[in-house]
Amino acid sequence: MKSPIPDYLDEMLENERPDEAGELAGYIQELASADPDQLGAALATLDGEIYCAGDTDIEFSIQSISKPFAYALALADRGVDQVLDKVDVEPSGEAFNEISLDKDGRPLNPMINAGAITTHSLIGLPGCTAEDRVERMVEGLSAFAGRRLAVDEGVYRSELDDAHRNLAIAHMLRSYDVLTEDPRAVVDGYTRQCSLMVTVHDLAMMAATLANQGVNPVTGERAVPVAVIRQVLSVMSTCGMYDAAGDWTTQVGIPAKSGVSGGVIGALPGQMGIATFSPRLDNHGNSVRGVALFERFSSDMGLHLMEVPAAARSVLREHAPSGTETVRIFDLQGSIRFAGAERVVREIVRTDIAEDRVALDLTAVHSLDDVARRMLLEVARRLSIEGKEVFLVDPDTVIPDPDPGTDGSLAVVSRRDELH
Ligand code: GLU
Repeated sequence: MKSPIPDYLDEMLENERPDEAGELAGYIQELASADPDQLGAALATLDGEIYCAGDTDIEFSIQSISKPFAYALALADRGVDQVLDKVDVEPSGEAFNEISLDKDGRPLNPMINAGAITTHSLIGLPGCTAEDRVERMVEGLSAFAGRRLAVDEGVYRSELDDAHRNLAIAHMLRSYDVLTEDPRAVVDGYTRQCSLMVTVHDLAMMAATLANQGVNPVTGERAVPVAVIRQVLSVMSTCGMYDAAGDWTTQVGIPAKSGVSGGVIGALPGQMGIATFSPRLDNHGNSVRGVALFERFSSDMGLHLMEVPAAARSVLREHAPSGTETVRIFDLQGSIRFAGAERVVREIVRTDIAEDRVALDLTAVHSLDDVARRMLLEVARRLSIEGKEVFLVDPDTVIPDPDPGTDGSLAVVSRRDELH
């Protein structure tokens, strides 16, 4: 049987294909001569499956979609505080190439050019050469994509020849000491960053790596530490779509970034990466058909981040005493966070447990965050203080180091039948 998902993607592309609204980005020669009819989309899951439709093998320059990934690298290399010192995280509401800095000369966010040029200068170790920085940038973005990406010299040259505005921004940043090195070398490196060639398949993979807490779902390689991902996704959701971020957040609700060559990516944390490619742009600079596709994907697939199903309800499966059993078993399942753990804790507290032995069966639990782990262990500790013998059935070690201070009365077993 054929999966319905590629058919769905094909149908969505065919719906959008007739829409010829918008203009190609005219200010970079190589982009002005792109084929305006190109159209592609890809979805990458976090366990490495990818669904593609349309022009998925056509390479185009990544442009501003490089910005969140470069930001992730700078955060990884210099730490959040040092990067925040130089680049703020406030939406600007202005065009991407606006010369907008705060009163200390700090760019408003890393998704506008002033912030992205500064961010580029923070990639690599302090004091590294411009060449080393470019190599680190290429290698870092390639780790997100899961294949070695390359700069297109034609795009790079044509963009650099006309980089007057970006040079003006960089010189101004230098005058405030936000940039501390040669502004021309930084703009050169930033322009190379924008000229990396990608396909819509690559972009979906890169977005999926962000959605997967920094680990590429196919290669398994960690591109950046998990600690930087929240920062990057947050900035994407407030500043990722040029000055249309508010509309995007209400209509689509997925952390995203677009670029002037017509790409759009969306990274849905814990679920998937999405990418579209269609070169005609609206007056914000976002791909017309890309935005329309994302609106459809979000509503058809229920992807809006503010629409989250009640996770707590399904966490506790059952806990009835089973006749002759001498142990009360609480069966948990799924992915447990605060609300789910609260549900379990409440049920245990309210239950009058006659048995001397109590077990929490975690066999069907696939993830447990830190607060949920601490809450379950605390309830285990309290049960043991009340004189119960407490067991965790944890075959996959979802609680790696259970040490609730129960004086040895918490036992971990890997199979439920070991309880009898
Ligand atoms: N290379 C482009 C510039 O700096 C990136 C613009 C974009 O995609 O928004 O002008």
